[in-house]
Amino acid sequence: MSTRLVLFGPPGVGKGTQAALLQQRLRLNPISSGDIFRKEIEAETDLGRMATRYIERGELVPNGVTIEMMAKRLRQDDVRQHGFVLDGFPRTVKQAEALDEILLKMDFGLTKVISIEVPDEVVLHRLAGRMGCTKCGEIYHREDKLPKREGLCDKCNGPLFVRADDQPDTIMERLRVFHETTEPVIDYYLKSGLLQRVNGTMGPEETYAQIVSDLIHVMSEVS
Ligand code: ADP
Ligand code: ZN
Repeated sequence: MSTRLVLFGPPGVGKGTQAALLQQRLRLNPISSGDIFRKEIEAETDLGRMATRYIERGELVPNGVTIEMMAKRLRQDDVRQHGFVLDGFPRTVKQAEALDEILLKMDFGLTKVISIEVPDEVVLHRLAGRMGCTKCGEIYHREDKLPKREGLCDKCNGPLFVRADDQPDTIMERLRVFHETTEPVIDYYLKSGLLQRVNGTMGPEETYAQIVSDLIHVMSEVS
């Protein structure tokens, strides 16, 4: 029995961190729409060029291309067999409806939708100091989690970088878009009874503990 999760929440809430923990510890397959877009941008594909214009401004990439890109990824074999943890998708009600349709065609349903919740001030603080490792993806913060050597990853020595969309104006815009367009997705999942709300203001381990305490339950029920 495979597990299919959605991690939901504002930018900077720690969805990527939780997805990485779920991958390491429960062997779930993380799928991040933001990472897929960044790879397309790096590879200079048509999709990447198109997406950059929106991402740089902190806006959402249009539903049509986003849904198509995610549908392609979700239909791959590893996903069929081992399930997934979605991070960053769905971000609109349209995308949530499309995800249901894609999964229905694959004869799947979602196991759970986990909403990680933190106040806006915390999001702003986290994003405004965020740095990531270009090689292993480890996340640092210029006040809360400094690397031992400036600009270099403690784990793998890789160079650190600040995301182009982690600039103050863009961060504010991403938060605005979250409240306006993405938050209504919570109501969509409330109706289906799949939603689990988790407090994301403490450390990654505390957040993880809340997620799995509920999940172990669901996983043992279905297996
Ligand atoms: P974060 O969660 O930190 O804001 P992501 O890495 O998930 O960042 O996404 C970065 C950017 O990629 C978003 O601000 C948006 O422009 C675009 N993006 C990612 N996922 C989606 C999506 N599901 N729909 C539309 N745009 C998206
Ligand atoms: Zn690293």
